[in-house]
Amino acid sequence: MSEHEYDLIVIGSGPGGQKAAIAAAKLGKRVAVVDKHDMVGGVCVNTGTIPSKTLREAVLYLTGMNQRELYGASYRVKQDITIADLLARTQHVVGREVQVVRAQLMRNHVDLISGTGSFADAHTVVVEGRHLGDRRTLSADYVVIATGTRPARPGHVDFDAARVLDSDEILRLEQIPSSLVVVGAGVIGIEYASMFAALGSRVTVVEQRDQMLDFCDPEIVESLKFQLRDLGVTFRFGEKVADVAVSDDATITTLVSGKRIPADGVMYSAGRQGMTGDLALEAAGLTADERGRLVVDDYYRTEVPHIYAVGDVIGFPALAATSMDQGRLAAYHAFGEPANGLGALQPIGIYTIPEISYVGSTEAQLTSSSVPYEVGIARYRELARGQITGDSYGMLKLLVSTTDRKLLGVHVFGTGATDLVHIGQAVMGCGGTVDYLVDAVFNYPTLSEAYKVAALDATNKIRALDRFSS
Ligand SMILES: Cc1cc2nc3c(=O)[nH]c(=O)nc-3n(C[C@H](O)[C@H](O)[C@H](O)COP(=O)(O)OP(=O)(O)OC[C@H]3O[C@@H](n4cnc5c(N)ncnc54)[C@H](O)[C@@H]3O)c2cc1C
Repeated sequence: MSEHEYDLIVIGSGPGGQKAAIAAAKLGKRVAVVDKHDMVGGVCVNTGTIPSKTLREAVLYLTGMNQRELYGASYRVKQDITIADLLARTQHVVGREVQVVRAQLMRNHVDLISGTGSFADAHTVVVEGRHLGDRRTLSADYVVIATGTRPARPGHVDFDAARVLDSDEILRLEQIPSSLVVVGAGVIGIEYASMFAALGSRVTVVEQRDQMLDFCDPEIVESLKFQLRDLGVTFRFGEKVADVAVSDDATITTLVSGKRIPADGVMYSAGRQGMTGDLALEAAGLTADERGRLVVDDYYRTEVPHIYAVGDVIGFPALAATSMDQGRLAAYHAFGEPANGLGALQPIGIYTIPEISYVGSTEAQLTSSSVPYEVGIARYRELARGQITGDSYGMLKLLVSTTDRKLLGVHVFGTGATDLVHIGQAVMGCGGTVDYLVDAVFNYPTLSEAYKVAALDATNKIRALDRFSS
């Protein structure tokens, strides 16, 4: 029997921490999870994934955007959408999700300890509660650090939590801005830019690089930019912010190039910083990099082997789904439970309006590694379900090896993209070829049928090539 009170202490109750705790509990281990009272479920449930995705759903519903192709450009479910309309749905879903997390931990006899954790030594964590003197000392054989990230804030900008905000604060807006500057065209910046544009805000996106989402298929990113410009978004690529000035009722963002952009508000989405500052890492013999992140090995062990780190605090890909699996795998490794590693095929989902998702390689990657491929495309407007749904811009693109006909990549843009991608992921994961999709019968009318249409397109092109070469 160990001298420690717990087998495992998990610091942080986001997706990585939760799944590490549950996996250890399922193995019969004594587990404690430490997090602040109002952050159960992590950034994922409280300030990141869940609120932003619920907000998006509320925006899509209330603006009636997805129905306008069928009912006309003036179609709205609600004329004057207020921030209260949007937040009602968000708060409801967040509240329910927190309950789901709490209940799951409770059911599995995981102790949820409220407060901020820091190391006293490599096996001991001190938890400071909300009230003075509310302090507990816990010890464990193993520790998982799953403390996530917070928005990075450039030093030269005065964030006032009213007009100049970071992406965590955007959900605290008191009204929908009629104009908004979004600084940073990463995933979070572009997701929020598209939501506010859909709500009718005049959005200007400022990005210091010359392009955005450069890890995605360029054709799809072009389509997204076209759709966003159509919603009134202005892009300022290759531009840096020099200064943000704030008055009682407006902001002026001055760019290094001299341009000045007036707007009701400014949202910064300039990367994220690992939440390791409160952990007293040195007491455990650990150090973080300059962005607050921890380095781990293939088993999520830090430089102190009984201390693991998972989720956003270890950096790329910083997604909820990946964090969950990292947490589970860290717990399995700590307690000697055999497991496969993280799946090689990780889907990427970007919940812009319209949404993007992909799995596998991009055309640029295949080209640079000289892998011959053919492209098969299905456009939603050619599918009966696309017409019924009123999505004329959506598309699904398959990248198929011309040597062994295996699927190399799947890229989807439009309604349901983040769900649809998993069909391709499953085929690819099982080493399937494009012929599976040609032969499979899909329900009709569905958007999934896009796979068959794209597969036929790709095989027709490959056939033409084969005829020529034979
Ligand atoms: C706006 C936004 C949208 C996003 N959208 C998506 C999406 O659509 N899909 C997706 O897959 N991912 C999305 N993400 C990313 C996703 O939220 C993260 O990948 C995920 O939450 C990371 O999980 P984690 O386990 O690292 O912990 P986190 O969810 O980051 O939570 C960390 C927890 O640790 C706690 N903590 C920190 N320090 C301490 C301490 N010293 N003591 C106690 N507790 C501490 C914090 O309070 C927090 O609750 C989004 C993120 C943001 C910000």
